[in-house]
Amino acid sequence: SLAVRDVHLAFGANRVLRGVDLDVARGATACVIGPSGSGKSTLLRTVNRLIEPDAGDVLLDGRSVLRDDPDALRQRVGMVFQQFNLFPHMTVLRNITLALRRLKKLPEDEAVALARTQLALVGLAAKADSRPAHLSGGQQQRVAIARALALQPQVMLFDEATSALDPELVKGVLGVMAELSAGGMTMVVVTHEMGFARSVADTVAFMDHGVVLEAGAPAAVFETPAHPRLRRFLSQVL
Ligand code: ATP
Ligand code: MG
Repeated sequence: SLAVRDVHLAFGANRVLRGVDLDVARGATACVIGPSGSGKSTLLRTVNRLIEPDAGDVLLDGRSVLRDDPDALRQRVGMVFQQFNLFPHMTVLRNITLALRRLKKLPEDEAVALARTQLALVGLAAKADSRPAHLSGGQQQRVAIARALALQPQVMLFDEATSALDPELVKGVLGVMAELSAGGMTMVVVTHEMGFARSVADTVAFMDHGVVLEAGAPAAVFETPAHPRLRRFLSQVL
């Protein structure tokens, strides 16, 4: 399970996270929605320690990630970004085996076997030897997901993973994410895809000005939002 406890973070005078709490049970998917600038990306970045919070704690299965060795944490928490961050000069396969060799210290043959398995799971077995530039955006994002999954993380974080994709490519990536969720991965998904949040999430958390203003089951959040700010947000995006 993942627990974010009263996390605070300021960039100078800009208090971006002002006491964020979020609970994601093991195997559950939480979708985080909210307006631009509300702190969604910053929240995800505190979970895998791309930034350190000023106060509060992030617990993974009861253990604080803030005390974890960063390399160990990178294996336990996978992250997928809006821009895929693949290495352009390497093949798809090499993009995946690199982290396995560096972080997991796997021998080449084991890393290749694991990478091929993950590629097959996202439907890209045939693209192992291609360069990222020769793949569609949706395919590149599925490679980025396979790369994160190859490390066998306990939690996967997605930050607007489909926002940079052409509309017709969004469905394939959301499909991979929905399968992952159904397969029991613990996930935190920052998304503008309200349909995905409604159908896949166990919990939807609405962030505004650095706090989770309202969280609950998708039906409750979308059908009977309590907070006026959430009602206003939903009226703009639905
Ligand atoms: P969006 O939906 O547009 O992606 P968001 O909810 O993800 O927005 P964040 O990216 O977390 O929002 O940004 C929250 C606030 O923190 C913004 O005011 C932003 O300018 C500020 N911010 C984010 N990263 C940094 C940084 N590295 N240095 C200074 N300020 C930052
Ligand atoms: Mg963001």
